[in-house]
This record gives sequence, structure tokens and C-alpha cells, in this order.
Amino acid sequence: MSSVEQITGALNAPARSKLVPRTCPVCGAGKQESKLFTPRNIDPARLNALSFASRKVPEFMSHELVRCLRCDVVYACESGDAAETGEAYHEAQFDSSEEARDAAASYALTLESALATVTDKDGVLDIGTGTGTFLQQMAQRGFTGLVGIEPSPAAISAADEDIRPSIRMGLFDPASFASEQFALISCFMTLEHVHDPAALVNACYGLLKPGGVMVVVVHDWRAWNNRILGRRSPIVDIEHLQLFSSRSVTTLFNKAGFVQVDCQSFRNRYRLEYWCKLLPLPGGLRTAVDKLIKRTGLADHKIAMNVGNLMVVARKP
Ligand SMILES: [Zn+2]
Repeated sequence: MSSVEQITGALNAPARSKLVPRTCPVCGAGKQESKLFTPRNIDPARLNALSFASRKVPEFMSHELVRCLRCDVVYACESGDAAETGEAYHEAQFDSSEEARDAAASYALTLESALATVTDKDGVLDIGTGTGTFLQQMAQRGFTGLVGIEPSPAAISAADEDIRPSIRMGLFDPASFASEQFALISCFMTLEHVHDPAALVNACYGLLKPGGVMVVVVHDWRAWNNRILGRRSPIVDIEHLQLFSSRSVTTLFNKAGFVQVDCQSFRNRYRLEYWCKLLPLPGGLRTAVDKLIKRTGLADHKIAMNVGNLMVVARKP
């Protein structure tokens, strides 16, 4: 397996491949130092390409997940072969450009004060950039040298013309960049999917200039909404090889050498129509709600909500 696959081996492979045991992806502790979080729940008949699409009906399938008693990360203690992951990436869909725009704007807004402390604004790397909307936000804030990495050709072709040339198709390969090249590296909603999140964060540390900042957004398994839903939470998903909490994601960045690791929950601002799509409603009721908000003109109304995500801002000394 190449280092690229080890680091970016990204999406968890479908269960059709052989399952390989995993130790804690943050601190390396073995399964004996963990507690069961959810038992394995995989129905091969329902495992199809849809499982890897980002817009989908939740299927509540997952590998056996355990919680590391040392660092608090919840992780799949078995997973498929990383080699199949590129394929899964290509099959995956991406957020519609409007939703991606709303997400990027929410992230940029939350980052405002952290970005104000970044004086050298040359070099931004956005891993899993989708349609490049976060890069556009950074361009508006005076950042230059923008690079986005995105495996989905569909996402890239949907990108605006001004940003499309900055997006490289493929998986993140640290070897294709010079060390200490970037002032800012972002990676949103991706760390859950990679086989080796520590390798990814370590590689980013090497690519950052001294004083550079890495920012990630992850699901928080300890957030109240995720705790209430338990194994019915959309974060318990076969695509997710690990789920972070404030403590575990902070440990991940500290171990890589980052300092001033700041971890906070934040609010996502989306159109009401999109929030309704995320509600766990049966089909008929969902359609009725959808019609109602469209008829009343509320569908495009933007609402900010804390959905149980964490934003981590970490600085390289
Ligand atoms: Zn651990």
C-alpha cells in the first residue's frame, strides 16, 4: 500500500472486502482498552453505492464501534481494505452548490477571529474542497495561493469558473506539495472517513508554515443531539471510521505537535428547506412539511442551528 493510500485511504470500504482489525486511530490503544459503543450492524444486501452518497436516506448501518478509554475517540475496530476507498469516493455525491455555499459561509464566519491572526495569507489548502466554496470565501478575505483537493469529478465540474482551476482532482497526497508551503489548511467533515487521521494531521503539520493554522470540522459524538439519537444518529454510519469528541480531537492535534488547539461547537446556517430534509421524518410527512414551507415562502429562510459539530483551530508553533 502506498503512503498516499495509507493517509488518504479515505472512505471506509464497503463490507464486501475482508475486514481488518484496527487499533485506536488517535492514541494507538488496543481494543482491550475500549468499551463497546455500538455493535456491528451491516446488511450486505442493503450495502450498495448509495451507502457512500452524502445525500441519502440514513441506513443506520455501521461497523462495530468502540470508545477508546484512553482518548475518548469512538472508532471502528474493524474496517475494509483502504484500496477500495478511491472508488467509493468517486461514487459519492456532493452537496448541492447552495448548501455547500451556506456551509462554507458558516465556517468562514466562525473562523473570523482566528483568521484575523493569520498575517501571512499566502497558501491555502482545502482537503475535500467539493465545489471550492470555502476557497472562494478565503479569496474574499485576501488569501492567495489557493489549492483545493477533491476526488469527485462531479463536484469539480459544478464549481464556479473562477475557482475551478484551483481544484485538483484526486486524493490528498502530501508528497505533491513542498513542506511549509501553506499558511492555512482546512479539512471539513472528512477526518471521520480516513483510515489514518493521525497520518493526515501529521502530514498537514509538515505542509504548514511556522505560525500556520489548520482548521477542521468534525461531528461531536458527545453533542446532546447525537447522544439522544444514540445509534439512530446519522453520525453512526458505515462511512465513519471514527467519531471525535472535544477531548479526542484535541489529543489528535496535540500529538501532531500543534499548539493553541481551540475546539468549539458552532452554528451552521442553512435554508429551512435543507434543515427539513435532514429531519428524521417518514416520507409522506416530509413531503407535506416540504410543501408547506414552500407555499408559505419560508423555504429560503436561513436559520442557524448547532447540530453537534466541532470546529478545531490549531496552530503550528
Ligand atoms: Zn485512543
